[in-house]
Amino acid sequence: MDSKEATRTCGQCHKEVAEANFALHETHCSRFLCLCPECDEAVPRDQLAEHKEEQHTLVRCTKCSKKMERCQLADHEADECEERLQSCVFCDLELPWKELDQHCLVCGSRTELCRDCGRYVKLRDQPEHQMTCSAADGDSSPPLANSGAPSTSKGTLHSPRNLSQPPEYFFSRCFILAFPFSTTEVEIVSCRRCMGSFPAEELEEHQVFSSIFHTLWAQFFR
Ligand SMILES: [Zn+2]
Ligand SMILES: [Zn+2]
Ligand SMILES: [Zn+2]
Ligand SMILES: [Zn+2]
Ligand SMILES: [Zn+2]
Ligand SMILES: [Zn+2]
Repeated sequence: MDSKEATRTCGQCHKEVAEANFALHETHCSRFLCLCPECDEAVPRDQLAEHKEEQHTLVRCTKCSKKMERCQLADHEADECEERLQSCVFCDLELPWKELDQHCLVCGSRTELCRDCGRYVKLRDQPEHQMTCSAADGDSSPPLANSGAPSTSKGTLHSPRNLSQPPEYFFSRCFILAFPFSTTEVEIVSCRRCMGSFPAEELEEHQVFSSIFHTLWAQFFR
């Protein structure tokens, strides 16, 4: 016996219907269902108005004010809206998506001291630095004397989120190069506009980004 049941496609609702039930289905379908003119979905005739209201009413995204059908709103808010909040991978701050690129450019340029090799490494370069750090394996004594700090695992030291500022500096830590450890080997200079402290070699780069830094600085601290 043929185990696969013969089917036919219903012209009304486009469903595959068993041949044996087809006549009954078609009668039922044409009596009770209709196709929504907006989305071609088969909808119970008496619920078409409700369906249109639920799915196809034009609504505005509350974040970006873009107009769309209600059925598109959830996808828009989750994946498309330029104003949707996304977290910065470097500091966890939530920002509108359209501002994230610029923020991450600045935020990822902050440096943290690599205690393995004593160099200041940009947060965005840390994954690569972990692979290539000259002191990462073999040599267990870092060039800097960090006698006070207990030794922690490399993963923790290299984590971009392992910033040691107190919580009230949550915002400022985004915009100021992190400088959590003191060292006598690096000359520290201050930016006059944002009062951030930087290794002298980082100041030039800070000034490249200074318009972004200082605009954000002005927004948050005035
Ligand atoms: Zn049908
Ligand atoms: Zn529809
Ligand atoms: Zn939107
Ligand atoms: Zn950030
Ligand atoms: Zn290193
Ligand atoms: Zn500055």
